[in-house]
Amino acid sequence: MQLYKDQNLRVHNSLSGKKELFQPINEGHIGMYVCGPTVYSNVHLGNCRTFMSFDMIFRYFKHLGFKVRYVRNITDAGHLENDADEGEDKIAKKAKLEQIEPMEVVQRYTVDFHNTLQKFNLLPPSIEPTATGHIIEQIEIIKDILKKGLAYEVNGSVYFDVVKFNEAHEYGKLSGRKLEDMIANTRELTAQDEKKNPQDFALWKKAEPQHIMRWPSPWGDGFPGWHLECTAMSTKYLGEIFDIHGGGMDLKFPHHECEIAQAEASTGKSPVKYWMHANMLTLNGKKMSKSTGNNIYPSEIFSGDNNILSKVYSPAVVRFFMMQAHYTSILDLSDDALLASEKGYHRLMEAMTGLKDLKTGTTSDFDVATWKQKCYDAMNDDFNTPILIAHLFDAVKHINLIKDDQETISGEDKELLEMTLNAFVYDVLGIENQALAKDDSNALNGVMELLIQIRNDARANKDFATSDKIRDELTALGIQLKDGKDGTSFSIN
Ligand code: AMP
Ligand code: ZN
Repeated sequence: MQLYKDQNLRVHNSLSGKKELFQPINEGHIGMYVCGPTVYSNVHLGNCRTFMSFDMIFRYFKHLGFKVRYVRNITDAGHLENDADEGEDKIAKKAKLEQIEPMEVVQRYTVDFHNTLQKFNLLPPSIEPTATGHIIEQIEIIKDILKKGLAYEVNGSVYFDVVKFNEAHEYGKLSGRKLEDMIANTRELTAQDEKKNPQDFALWKKAEPQHIMRWPSPWGDGFPGWHLECTAMSTKYLGEIFDIHGGGMDLKFPHHECEIAQAEASTGKSPVKYWMHANMLTLNGKKMSKSTGNNIYPSEIFSGDNNILSKVYSPAVVRFFMMQAHYTSILDLSDDALLASEKGYHRLMEAMTGLKDLKTGTTSDFDVATWKQKCYDAMNDDFNTPILIAHLFDAVKHINLIKDDQETISGEDKELLEMTLNAFVYDVLGIENQALAKDDSNALNGVMELLIQIRNDARANKDFATSDKIRDELTALGIQLKDGKDGTSFSIN
């Protein structure tokens, strides 16, 4: 029996502006697409918040027993500087600046992205496709839209005809904008503009001779428009209509609006059943952003190398801080807020660590079954993690009372409590228990001491085959032994 059959999950759909009962297109299966990063620089903590929000959503779906195909792309071409159709490609610009290949830029920051998300304990998506790996699919969609008469070619570039599209469809339905207002509020086109209307957007851009990231197409050498890659990759892996499309709020317009237009123009169908948007992380009350410099990088938080926070915070504490806010609320990062989260995190972990040794009695003062359903109700209400965490602290209060002999719990209830806490804290919220991680490093130190001792004994017995084998195999694992006058120490590369 799958858990989802018992739980009525409601999600906020940005398209309707309402919380709706979640019913996937195919029972028991979910297709979810989330816009990934443009890999031209390190991810800042704001980016991480959005990916963490969708990681929590992915984890809860899995916990409920759904089979989820989670696609999160890597944007490695086509995203121009000003998010519209002008300026340089962000990746090509960085490559020129550093005098390296664009793909070196892509590789460097993709690795940073993965390493950072791993520190925050995010699960990898099921598929992580790249824009440059799907140029052919993007060209096919452009051909289709041209055939439908909803795009036009000018001088080697192809633009989406928003005004024509709007005659039979509704451009602006996701962001709540009206095309007439957009037209009234934008500047006039100048003579050198290729577009028929300022609202039109590029599906394909002609590459000028100096543009390094270029591919052949029926319209000449060029590169795809930014919005097109997500239409190509989401529909390729999830179908013409799929369950969930997510991203940060700032992507609603124009990015997601254009995705809807492209898909509807090409297939005639609205591509996404539930549009979900995560809200922004702010710093000093302003959106955390790469371009304004109002940001902090995860590595600066873990090392303490910053002017914003009074101390170092661990990835688990930062994740706990993020989970204490609802994913659709703005969250402001501050030292006070992180300090409070750290205190709460330790209180929760302490209670969970001591759970095993909790004495049991014949009766329970704590109604665990009712509490457990309250935890599910919180998550079923559009993934309300702050309410869930309030319930978790209710359990902590009872655990501490039981420890102080002021309350009792039955063996059966204790088991249910432990199972439910583990599920929500570790599996759904993805919060790691650092104390347990520390135990791992203690264990590693113990194993290394033992190996060093065996090697020393071998050397004393002139068994150099064994002593060399230990050193060489450790080196192959990235562990260096250093022999000094105070004995042998080790370091991990
Ligand atoms: P980008 O690499 O700029 O395309 O951004 C990657 C993701 O991070 C997108 O889903 C953005 O919406 C999201 N994002 C950017 N800034 C913030 C922020 N300050 N808070 C939360 N999410 C953000
Ligand atoms: Zn996207």
